[in-house]
Amino acid sequence: MKSLWIDRRSDPVPTDPLPTDGFESGARYDAVIVGAGLTGLTTALLLARAGRTVAVLEARSVGAVTTGHSTAKLSLLHGGVLSGIRSRGSSRVLAAYVEANREGQAWMLRYLEDHGVDVQRRDAITYAGTAEGVERLDAEYEASHAADLDVERIHGLDLPFETHGALRLRDQAQFDPMDVLRTLAADVRAHGGAIVEGARVNDVETGEPSRVSTSLGEVLADVVVLATGIPILDRGLYFAKVRASRSYAQAYRVSGELPQEMYLSIDAPTRSLRTAPVGDERLLLVGGNGHTVGRETDTRRLVDDLEQWTHRHFPGAERTHAWSAQDYESMNLVPFVGWMPRTGHHVTLATGYNKWGMTNGVAAALSMTADILGGSIPWAKTLHHRITLPQDVAHGVAANAQVAGRLASGWVSSNVHSLPDAPPAEGEGVVGAYDKEPTAVSTVDGTTCRLSAVCTHLGGIVTWNGAERTWDCPLHGSRFDSAGRLLEGPAVDDLERLDSDDAVG
Ligand SMILES: Cc1cc2nc3c(=O)[nH]c(=O)nc-3n(C[C@H](O)[C@H](O)[C@H](O)COP(=O)(O)OP(=O)(O)OC[C@H]3O[C@@H](n4cnc5c(N)ncnc54)[C@H](O)[C@@H]3O)c2cc1C
Repeated sequence: MKSLWIDRRSDPVPTDPLPTDGFESGARYDAVIVGAGLTGLTTALLLARAGRTVAVLEARSVGAVTTGHSTAKLSLLHGGVLSGIRSRGSSRVLAAYVEANREGQAWMLRYLEDHGVDVQRRDAITYAGTAEGVERLDAEYEASHAADLDVERIHGLDLPFETHGALRLRDQAQFDPMDVLRTLAADVRAHGGAIVEGARVNDVETGEPSRVSTSLGEVLADVVVLATGIPILDRGLYFAKVRASRSYAQAYRVSGELPQEMYLSIDAPTRSLRTAPVGDERLLLVGGNGHTVGRETDTRRLVDDLEQWTHRHFPGAERTHAWSAQDYESMNLVPFVGWMPRTGHHVTLATGYNKWGMTNGVAAALSMTADILGGSIPWAKTLHHRITLPQDVAHGVAANAQVAGRLASGWVSSNVHSLPDAPPAEGEGVVGAYDKEPTAVSTVDGTTCRLSAVCTHLGGIVTWNGAERTWDCPLHGSRFDSAGRLLEGPAVDDLERLDSDDAVG
């Protein structure tokens, strides 16, 4: 499912052409940045501006994963995040979180203004969709004021459904995230940086220099920046400290008045609303229905539910786009940013933005760049050297117990059920035992593919995502297309292909 942002561009984001014979072996850079989303390109630009030689290696294409599928509100009003951080007890961490995002937002607004990129200024509104949500709204109001954010309470929104009070933060912003990536990518290249698409990094052997193995060959780097959404190397076990959460978004042509601002419900079911200018018209974007990747049995139902909700409240709305994407939630709501353990300050990483990466991603880029260049940012020190609190450990233990349960139940159920004799119907996928091995079979566009159902990251059993027609791992969020090719997540290898015939049984 293609996002509005990716679909509306017929011309690809400019990148360096791949050398026909792969990388010149041993090409050496001051910094190799892995991943060309918002975090990777911002970091690359900051380093290139500081005179460092940089190469951005992107497994797919610029913006292909989360940034190009974001709803892209550049806001400091983060749903219920501030009260969540405050409830963990540290006012210093809360203040530093807001400061980091404020700097991230300010940097981006300045940058986009300097480069003439279209940005729409809008108020950000968090509302309670239920009476139960009001208490959470109150807590968020208190936390916002404790962190010096000028949030107001308001009533009576211009929305066509019932709400129970709201918070407003004036003069925030929204944009087309592919406009932003396109501008950053051109700027990186203008500063001498290289951007190479289709280069999947498989491993990093740290040293001086570090050796970065990619699907195209090897490069050398003094520093490696993992801006891959979730880190691909398992040192530091970050995959076990974040939860992969997938959400749905849709764009609509609506006749009549559109809501003016940017909205997010603080309670379930989550609903996110904003508009997007496209040519002469304005589309309505609706998002929500998030869930842990790989743990929802019927993802098509979630797409339909969002569509029915939109038609109920915006009668006659005509859907133009539907897509989904995932981001990573850290257990204490604060991103993990900084040097990866046991890499001798050769590898740095950023993850865990909780679906607020437009500001957190820029803040991470500022923080990692300061680390690499030998600078020091007070908010970054507070955020990234924080201690893990007992409740976060408990939360992590519970989350990892769920992962262990999923691992076991996936293997049991894939061994108990044998594969049906007939291939799955078009758009369907099924997991079962074949030759005593967990096997995933799907039919997409008339082609039936049989794959190992064992995720190449840590051995979870993948589940079928009917909305995206992909195989998704319920442990740490790796995803693969119906032919087993890796799409995203901490895995670095494709699913094993068992065959590809048009009749299975
Ligand atoms: C539905 C949804 C809505 C959202 N809305 C908002 C919002 O309104 N406001 C907001 O602030 N945030 C929002 N977010 C969050 C925000 O979009 C993300 O936090 C942000 O885009 C993450 O950027 P990134 O650069 O870290 O990751 P990505 O954009 O995912 O970039 C990572 C890149 O790394 C590449 N990569 C991965 N592994 C490798 C490898 N081994 N080798 C080479 N390359 C690799 C990937 O292909 C990818 O291109 C939303 C998220 C979702 C899911």
